[in-house]
Amino acid sequence: MTAVFSAELATGCRAGAFGNATHLVCRACGARGPLGPFYACLECFGPLEVGYDFPTISRAQLEAGPKSIWRYAPLLPVPADIATFRSTDPGFTRLVEARRLADDLGLRQLWVKDDSGNPTHSFKDRVVAVALSAARELGLQVLACPSTGNLANAVAAAAARAGIRSVVFVPENLEHQKIIASAIYDTTLVAVHGSYDDVNKLASEIAAEEEGWAFVNVNVRPYYAEGSKTLAFEIAEQLGWRLPDQVVIPIASGSQLTKIDKGFTELIDLGLVEPKPYRIFGAQATGCSPVAQAYRSGHDVVQPVKPDTIAKSLAIGNPADGPYVLDVVRRTGGAIVDVDDETVIENIQRLARTEGIFAETAGGVTVGVTAKLVADGLLDPAAETVVINSGDGLKTLDAVADRVGPKTTIPPRYEAFTEFWKARG
Ligand SMILES: *Cc1c(COP(=O)(O)O)cnc(C)c1O
Ligand SMILES: [Zn+2]
Repeated sequence: MTAVFSAELATGCRAGAFGNATHLVCRACGARGPLGPFYACLECFGPLEVGYDFPTISRAQLEAGPKSIWRYAPLLPVPADIATFRSTDPGFTRLVEARRLADDLGLRQLWVKDDSGNPTHSFKDRVVAVALSAARELGLQVLACPSTGNLANAVAAAAARAGIRSVVFVPENLEHQKIIASAIYDTTLVAVHGSYDDVNKLASEIAAEEEGWAFVNVNVRPYYAEGSKTLAFEIAEQLGWRLPDQVVIPIASGSQLTKIDKGFTELIDLGLVEPKPYRIFGAQATGCSPVAQAYRSGHDVVQPVKPDTIAKSLAIGNPADGPYVLDVVRRTGGAIVDVDDETVIENIQRLARTEGIFAETAGGVTVGVTAKLVADGLLDPAAETVVINSGDGLKTLDAVADRVGPKTTIPPRYEAFTEFWKARG
């Protein structure tokens, strides 16, 4: 393969700045180039991803690391001493054995990977931590992002902890909780008239013009995306170093889904788990389901849509990784399914009622899609399944506010209570 990118590697980078990562590779045409602040192929404009030359890596070596994503540093584009930097140290979230939800859904063995346990309560802390490391090594000074909410929270918090400047761009109609949960970190928050896709386009323009800005999911996206592999690594390690049979994953841009697949593949290639087939399923909300629609129609390209759903964290109408999601799902024998907003709400409640886990709307989408996959005979009920809960219900309270809550208020007297108790039905 020829190197088609600018010959000089990000000048001033320290040796080992990207660990075992050795190059960037175009996902569309396979052209290779050096590591640096590049995200689009100079040959074909295709998206770039990080390539590695891994040494032998043992389970014991990884297990000896910190209880965060940094235990997997040898598998990420980060320096070996990354754990000593000031990051939010995300990851190592719980893998919950979901017996009651499994019974409710008619599945034999089900786990919920509960990423609401991250520092800013969504899986985005993982990708931001890796992007922050890349930004630092590339000498970029401002951490920025276009966001559907959770990414803004994660960027603002990570920048605060690292002591650097952050600027986050969000669509104006974002949930109140997610706006506050960014602004509290003293970030510069820019609300934009328009949808996420408009915000994303604006961010790309700024990234092209402004020197020194790291838009985590735009110009340092190849590094950012690698952070999602840690979900795959943790699931495997928490299952005792083996892979599940089926995984159900929410889709916004589709990055998380494709990188969980990449993570599983790397574990197999490195001999860290036994090779086995696994199936990857994608979950979207009907009001923003461009990838599910393309999957159903048998298309390889994703037709952009205008989002209209309560699942705002997944409301990307023009998903960057859409075609790659279709590849992964078709290759592994999975499927991509969508559910409507009413089903999202019911499934936020279902997960809460059965497992004591309060998910945001994205979790309602994923659990709702899991139920539909079982009903449609697309998930094998006898096989071991993992569902990703990617965010916290406290950030999307309005989705369920009118469904739950106290129906009566009583005076502080025992008789009032007994009357209420008898009448409760
Ligand atoms: C961003 C996000 C996702 C999906 O992310 P992609 O990698 O863009 O597909 C899923 N769930 C939540 C809660 C998110 O914030
Ligand atoms: Zn290319």
